[in-house]
Amino acid sequence: MSPVRESQYLRTAFIDVDALQHNVRTMRELLDVPHIFAVVKANAYGHGAVIASRAALAGGADALAVADIDEAIELRSAGIDAPILCWIHPKRADFAAAIRARLDIGIGRPDQLEAVVAAIDSGAAAAPALIQFKVETGLSRNGLAPANWQAVFARARELQDAGLISVRGIFSHLSNTSVEDDQEAAERFRTAVHQLNDAGLEPPYVHLAASGAAAKHPDLRFTAARLGISLYGLSASHELTAEEIGLRPVLTLQAEVVAVRHVSAGAGVSYDYTYRVPKNTTLALLAIGYADGVPREISGKGLAVQIRGNHYPIVGRVAMDQVIVDLGSDVTSIEPGDQALLIGDPSQGEPSAGDWATAANTINYEIVSRLGPRIARVAVESGAVL
Ligand SMILES: *Cc1c(COP(=O)(O)O)cnc(C)c1O
Repeated sequence: MSPVRESQYLRTAFIDVDALQHNVRTMRELLDVPHIFAVVKANAYGHGAVIASRAALAGGADALAVADIDEAIELRSAGIDAPILCWIHPKRADFAAAIRARLDIGIGRPDQLEAVVAAIDSGAAAAPALIQFKVETGLSRNGLAPANWQAVFARARELQDAGLISVRGIFSHLSNTSVEDDQEAAERFRTAVHQLNDAGLEPPYVHLAASGAAAKHPDLRFTAARLGISLYGLSASHELTAEEIGLRPVLTLQAEVVAVRHVSAGAGVSYDYTYRVPKNTTLALLAIGYADGVPREISGKGLAVQIRGNHYPIVGRVAMDQVIVDLGSDVTSIEPGDQALLIGDPSQGEPSAGDWATAANTINYEIVSRLGPRIARVAVESGAVL
């Protein structure tokens, strides 16, 4: 979507609605599954939950997924009507609110199913509650333990027959450790699905794969996939990159140049003077820092930003609200008010979330999902700011 755009904000994440829709269509063609859950947890991996949800649904996803009930209710409040799955609940989860919002409640413990029924019995919400079972198949995280499957599925059948719940799905999640580990987890998942079917329940949503496995393991697609990172045009792994699949990055991160300063050889830069300029140079100050998700860890790693088409390294410590780039000695045209591009499209030679991840010794998921609330999210469609 680049080049750099004008912005009225100090920090702007432009969200390319066309790219997101393209990515949904590309994954739908690649996977050929009946249902796609667009995973929009954590503010849609930093992209803006409402913008991303609308774009994903317009692009052909038929459902959404988030971690928390609160994240799902926020989407309902924005008028989003599609099915929304959520699966991480506190002990005192407000299941009545979840039922009233017609959320698909992921059930990972037997007591959660009973708490859902109690919310209906209390009159706080009307039946039926929409249920999807999260089953534990290897990650040792949240999910019904195999020892509980039979009893819980039998109970669910009773509750469904009584009109209290509607069992809509069963799902689990893979570790991506190796093909063998994933196949072993899938085998456990198949066992869970059989047991659910044996209890007389055949829900429409049967899903195991997220972005990585969906592309890699055609046999693990079942009836749905939960796709997060791929819809944002980023790679789930190094084995099969976003570019190889034909995905386009959705987010462009910019920050405004707020000061330009000429300094002499030896001048210290930012806290602790971890960088002293080796010769006379010009520095530009950008209004973005670790509070906004620029990892302090990238300090001194030579990571570059792009200003007026050229690349300049970030130098010195990343501070809470500011980073400094070294423009070199021959730059006079850059001035306050210019926009710096921090994350863009690597296929256009622009810095990418992947570059940041490498510099910060982490993964692109962590980079984008930590982009903070001070960054304005601005949707762009057909080349125009919405
Ligand atoms: C976050 C998450 C996803 C999405 O994973 P991607 O790799 O981003 O596609 C899917 N399922 C579960 C359970 C998750 O926690």
